Amino acid sequence: MIRFLSSLFARPKPFVYAGIGITLATTGVTVASLYEMRLDAMAQARDAAQNLVISLQKEIERNLDMYQLAMRDVATSAETPGIVRLPPEVRQLVAFSSFTDSRELGAMFATDATGNLVLDSRSISPRKINVSGRDYFRIQRQQTDAGLYVSAPFVPYSADSEQPVIAMSRRLEDKDGQFSGIVAGTLRLSFFRQLFEDSILGRHDTITLLRTDGTVLMRQPFHESDIGKSLASGHSFQPLVQSDHGTYVDIAVLDHVERLYTFRRVGSYPLIVVVGLATDDIFAGWRKRAIAIGIASIVLDALLILLSLMFGTQLRKRLAVERRLQRLAWFDSLTGLPNRAQLQREALRILTDTSRNGSTLAVLFIDLDRFKRVNDTQGHAVGDEVLSEIARRLRKEIQPDDLIGRLGGDEFLAVVQDCDVLKAKHVAARILHAVSQPILINSGQDTRITISASIGIALCPHDGEEPDTLLRNADLAMYQAKRAGRNQVRFYAPDYERQAKEQLELEIALQQALRSNALSVAYQPKTDAIGALCGVEALVRWDNDGQGVIAPDRFIVIAEESGLIAEMDAWVMGEACRQLAQWRAEGLDVPNISVNVCAADFKRPDYPGLVNDTLRSHGLVASDLTLEMTERVLFDESVADIRKSLDALHAMGIALSIDDFGTGYSSLSYLHRFPVKELKIDKSFVQGIGRDAMAESLAQTLIHIGKILKLTVTAEGVETHAQRDFLAAHGCHLYQGFLFSRALAPRDFARWVRAHRSCASAGDPEARAKPL
Ligand code: C2E
Ligand code: CA
Ligand code: CA
Repeated sequence: MIRFLSSLFARPKPFVYAGIGITLATTGVTVASLYEMRLDAMAQARDAAQNLVISLQKEIERNLDMYQLAMRDVATSAETPGIVRLPPEVRQLVAFSSFTDSRELGAMFATDATGNLVLDSRSISPRKINVSGRDYFRIQRQQTDAGLYVSAPFVPYSADSEQPVIAMSRRLEDKDGQFSGIVAGTLRLSFFRQLFEDSILGRHDTITLLRTDGTVLMRQPFHESDIGKSLASGHSFQPLVQSDHGTYVDIAVLDHVERLYTFRRVGSYPLIVVVGLATDDIFAGWRKRAIAIGIASIVLDALLILLSLMFGTQLRKRLAVERRLQRLAWFDSLTGLPNRAQLQREALRILTDTSRNGSTLAVLFIDLDRFKRVNDTQGHAVGDEVLSEIARRLRKEIQPDDLIGRLGGDEFLAVVQDCDVLKAKHVAARILHAVSQPILINSGQDTRITISASIGIALCPHDGEEPDTLLRNADLAMYQAKRAGRNQVRFYAPDYERQAKEQLELEIALQQALRSNALSVAYQPKTDAIGALCGVEALVRWDNDGQGVIAPDRFIVIAEESGLIAEMDAWVMGEACRQLAQWRAEGLDVPNISVNVCAADFKRPDYPGLVNDTLRSHGLVASDLTLEMTERVLFDESVADIRKSLDALHAMGIALSIDDFGTGYSSLSYLHRFPVKELKIDKSFVQGIGRDAMAESLAQTLIHIGKILKLTVTAEGVETHAQRDFLAAHGCHLYQGFLFSRALAPRDFARWVRAHRSCASAGDPEARAKPL
């Protein structure tokens, strides 16, 4: 029930349909009840008409019966042979004794066979009137079986009244059955008129007294001209004579008004009483009510439809807003993928199913590599396009039953059901492949962007059973994938968690060390082939109280990731410059000092200023300092900012050196574009000399490149004479490595310098290319 109701509320249309439905239903009911009311009105009218017609019929019949009785007495008297011999007063009394009550209705008389009055209710000696010309006489004389005859209306001979009458006659016969006259009674039509007038209902209603042949004897409302007219031509006249009562609707012959007619035969008399009620009048009340009800129902229906439409529209609007809000709340507006909140909800649902079925699943944390660079160099519109395209591709790689969503930024999350290590690996590989396909950007001219992703995978139940745990572990694994050089897949290992914790601890410790001056700098000489000092590299050292000396390779990464690196490098540069100044003040001839820098340093807008200030504050000049950076720096996301810093530093006369040369990017064009002075061949090539022909030929090539570009070539990690000799034979300029010296504490370095010659004072600079 609740579900039904909520489904009703969830969809606005049913309201409109319901509104229309109710409207139709109520309209139907209204029409039906109006029709019924009409039938009722008709039935009521019929009842009224019938009651009236019955009472009229009875009243007329009662009066005619009285007439009949009286006529029979008159007839008996007339047929009694000795009646003429009675004294006139007595004769009168005998003949008309039962007529006394009806005298005001008319007159009664008897005639002889010739039509002369023999008995007359009006006078003791019958008036000298002959009625042989009247139809009521002629019919009786001609027909033996005429019975009671009712005449058409006529005006009687006696001048005492001009009022029209009808006459009823009966045949009189003598002993032999021969016609001997008639007995007749005249009835004043005014009697009927009065009767009808007293009974009349409405203005258009009629009461008619007809003879069975259709002759109108009286009609109400009264028009003299109607009297005596024949209605026999009316088409409803036939049923009128065929049965002794009935009801019908017809248009009147006389006035063309439609009426409901109810008729009744007046006893055994050849007379019919008809009551006609005008249908207009019958339905007048009904019509008024029908109009009122009709208007009310139309108004109500219109209101109902309006309300349901409004309600529907309102509901539709509200639902649309709600749906939009829901989408905003649960879906990412850029990619249309589920957002973090929705991912959590859905993941929880899937996980519940998974643990119920005892199946497995994989959570894939997908993070785009160097996406920030796309945003910074191509603009946010392009960044958005890239994200949308990646989202599309990810969705294609993920089955509809599985889950893919955007956590935010360039982070996506996939949940793959029924997934073991192998399947997860496969899915991740497919995703990496899909992501790495060039993306065509259609804004303005066609640009292709290539991007990669790092994926961390956590398996359920192996790596956790809670969404939060799985997400965190997948994130940790992703982080490892990034550290492993990006465009990689890593499965979560419990070790990652420990590492992450350690990392955090280290980060905090490093921060403290930096603030409390617990870091130190070690110095490694750069020499020529014969070991004369040509420069020195400053290398940071951290002697952590708890863990002893921590290798820079470990904490430099942490410093970079935590953003401490710039601060640390600034400190190292300051310390190195201070040290150089101090050595010089002590009389040591140290030609130049190199410090290691990274992208974060160059991104500081104040970096060239900082370098300048540092040099000045120690009384040094630009040529005293070399900045070592890896090729990676030149390919950083914020290359524009870096370029600005590099140009400013170059303008100041600071030398740039490419560290770990050969391990990074294959493109060499940047060597032209950036003001580079030195290449440091990575120790991996140097250490392959004598062991690995490939490393040897690479080392050789790298030296060659440096020479072509007229750069100073320095070999790093030179540990053996053989390495040094090989490098020297191929024209390497400078050397750095354990063969000459490890990185030393300042005091030890000073001692080392005193024991060796400085290359700056060792003659022919041409032979060693450009001294640093
Ligand atoms: P790098 O710039 O390539 O520094 C040279 C590294 O090689 C140093 O390791 C050095 O001790 C080591 N090395 C020198 N000669 C030999 C050799 O003959 N054999 C071997 N196996 N190794 C040799 P270290 O001091 O551990 O520094 C590692 C890296 O840390 C450096 O590599 C540099 O990239 C980074 N680094 C060191 N100090 C700083 C710093 O102050 N700032 C920044 N940003 N990075 C630094
Ligand atoms: Ca270095
Ligand atoms: Ca190096």
